[in-house]
Amino acid sequence: MTAARRWPIHPPPGPTEALTSWLRRIASRYEADLDDLVTDLGFRPSAAGDLDACPPDGFARALSERTGLEVKQIQKMSLNGWSPRLIDPNRPGPDTFPLYNQQFSVLLGVGRRRVREIPTWLPWRSTRPALRACPQCIAASQPPYPYQLLWLLAITLSCPFHKCLLEVRENPVSHFADWDHKPPVPKPASPTVLTMDTRTWQAMATGFTDLPGRRIHAETWFRLLRTIIDELEATITECTTAARMITGIWKTAGYSARVGPLSWQPHESYPPDVQVRALQTAATAIHLLERGTLTGRGPDATFFLPLKS
Ligand SMILES: [Zn+2]
Repeated sequence: MTAARRWPIHPPPGPTEALTSWLRRIASRYEADLDDLVTDLGFRPSAAGDLDACPPDGFARALSERTGLEVKQIQKMSLNGWSPRLIDPNRPGPDTFPLYNQQFSVLLGVGRRRVREIPTWLPWRSTRPALRACPQCIAASQPPYPYQLLWLLAITLSCPFHKCLLEVRENPVSHFADWDHKPPVPKPASPTVLTMDTRTWQAMATGFTDLPGRRIHAETWFRLLRTIIDELEATITECTTAARMITGIWKTAGYSARVGPLSWQPHESYPPDVQVRALQTAATAIHLLERGTLTGRGPDATFFLPLKS
């Protein structure tokens, strides 16, 4: 590949495709690989880091000049391009966790949870990389299969377009040769899960999401959802008199034992199967709040009640 080559914008990126996924598809068109493209843009592959999380400064501009796509559109293909909507504007700092998780209180009263400082914490990004993928999206596409930015995050359980559950792949490299030979049978997602995930997709796609009788900003939705998970995983000391209510939500979601009562860690540090349980239970909590069969003890539970006329 020569430095003078100007790549056409085809194959164009999908609406919520991750940057590495798109680059890999361009590379495949030119029978090159990802490292060739990164080098050709003037960056050392070994120093480029995780392009889906935080590409090097100037990367989006260089790619824009070569493909004709707007810099902003390219930035949106990496997680740091979603600041401050999905993640806070600054790089991780000691107060990122409390700022993100404790601005709201839904299930537990204000001030019930300990203020925790986790210097390297990033919301929704698992510390052990995993990819969640929709078997029907993959079956409908061609190698190298595109993947969505949201599939990299421990934030959704389903594909709202195919209404099936995502399959967790612990190998972060998103090659699907095994699915070519033996595709997984799609499992239908419950209406409760689909409601939660459709809101998350709407927030990513439009910057807003719809709750009963009101529309809220995407940043509010992501922080409310993360708050509910944090409250569901609070320790016994933090739950105090709400412990029975919290355990009841886990039981309604189908889990006899809840996550986190004795040994606390953030949602992002748990294995993928535990993250799935927490997200299913969060979807259940939202459903119970909206049906009025659960009363949250925090003032922000009102987000899930219809507006009074
Ligand atoms: Zn799908």
